[in-house]
Amino acid sequence: MSKTIIIVGGGISGLTVLHHLRKKHANTHDVAIKLLEMEDSVGGTVRTIRRNGTQFEAGPNAFLDSKPSTLELAQDLGLESDLTVASTENKIRYICLENNLYQLPKSPISFFRFKPLTFIEKLRAIMEVCVPRGQNPNETVYEFGTRRLGEGIAKYFLDPLVSGICAGDSHELNLQFTFPTIYSLEQKHNSLIRGMFANKKGKSGQLRSFKHGMGQLIEKLAQQHADSIVTGIMVDRVLPQKNGYDIQAGQTSFFADELILSTPAFATANIVNAMNPDLAKHLREIPYASITVVGLVYTVEQFKTLIRGFGYLRPTHEGKEILGVLFSSQIFPSRVSQGKVLLQVLLGGAKHPQTIRKSEEEIFDIAQEEIKNVLGVTGHPQDQFIFRWGKAIPQYNRAYPKTYSTIKNTLQQHPHLHLLANYLDGIALNDCTANAKALADKINL
Ligand SMILES: Cc1cc2nc3c(=O)[nH]c(=O)nc-3n(C[C@H](O)[C@H](O)[C@H](O)COP(=O)(O)OP(=O)(O)OC[C@H]3O[C@@H](n4cnc5c(N)ncnc54)[C@H](O)[C@@H]3O)c2cc1C
Repeated sequence: MSKTIIIVGGGISGLTVLHHLRKKHANTHDVAIKLLEMEDSVGGTVRTIRRNGTQFEAGPNAFLDSKPSTLELAQDLGLESDLTVASTENKIRYICLENNLYQLPKSPISFFRFKPLTFIEKLRAIMEVCVPRGQNPNETVYEFGTRRLGEGIAKYFLDPLVSGICAGDSHELNLQFTFPTIYSLEQKHNSLIRGMFANKKGKSGQLRSFKHGMGQLIEKLAQQHADSIVTGIMVDRVLPQKNGYDIQAGQTSFFADELILSTPAFATANIVNAMNPDLAKHLREIPYASITVVGLVYTVEQFKTLIRGFGYLRPTHEGKEILGVLFSSQIFPSRVSQGKVLLQVLLGGAKHPQTIRKSEEEIFDIAQEEIKNVLGVTGHPQDQFIFRWGKAIPQYNRAYPKTYSTIKNTLQQHPHLHLLANYLDGIALNDCTANAKALADKINL
């Protein structure tokens, strides 16, 4: 008897599971697989805007290939020759304090020269090897940093890392779920320093993108699976049926033997509300931080000196709306034409929910002022982009561990229903592709 798998949501998670399921069932004629996306095009958060020779990334800039899932996907799609690796400049990173840049240390010597930390704070950080292993899985990133390495490291290293990666608040986000690698280093080696030495030969991964930007991955997936994708169709709700689900989308309905909801937590909550209001309630408990992304294009001549590197992050205690600035064209030079410089300014995040509501003009002013004050640029940009994400990134906060396990337990009441998106098991794009592959392997018809 023929079977139908329906995927709701065409972000990278939904598209990747579609790809692997179609591959798995390529020689099976009685399996139909369909993806329903509410927007006119797929991609979700992954979005490359190409204009006047510039590639502006509104969403992810790159992915870390620490697990092979995205590389293998690229290979499947015939995109290997279009994969790009971040330039070595990417290893030079800064934090910004009172508009001055301080290069983050890469060696013990540079650590001792790192000015923002006092001598006592540096000694405290080294004493980390003597700190006993933590016992509290509910610790926040800031609490963890303070306990293991001292407040200086929490404030100048971990706090900006949280705002740069998750647009989040280090005092609120749970360490174990937000940075599972750091958590397991402590659990396994009793010490981060010892763990890092032990893992030195381990694979930390390279930062990668595609010749035509991250959007190229989406365009190739969309092209290859066009006959399975329906866009412009918003799913309203699902109801259980014998051995499957009824899916309502406006006046249209579908039946699925296996249903994958690959939509953000708040959208998933609306979809499952009629079927299981409790599940919907727990999904709504996951908050999202907003973020505004601005791209600014200057000529090289507008800079007195071009600072080398990946970019900088701002620790949040100064209260600035700017989370950080990426030197995009130094990381991936092909993103802008010769003689130009592309910078990406990130604003808002969990600590500044008001930023997203500011006018375009106000936001461009804040971003340009930042570049003028910190990087000493003169004059106006040659081109500028803006993209606002009202609900950008799910926050694995203090309440998250309980919410996570409740959602996973509740799902056991609903066989053949699967939740797959960045609010579960990792925010990074590479986590999304790895989780999608694992789900495709697990679903057996
Ligand atoms: C600004 C920004 C920068 C980032 N930078 C990086 C980075 O540099 N590196 C990295 O690894 N990660 C980065 N991330 C994280 C990563 O991009 C995301 O976690 C990932 O793309 C999420 O993919 P997803 O498929 O899970 O969800 P989404 O991309 O949110 O896709 C969900 C899809 O579901 C659709 N949908 C919603 N409701 C319905 C409905 N009712 N019916 C039908 N369809 C529906 C949506 O339209 C959307 O297409 C960044 C994220 C943001 C926002």
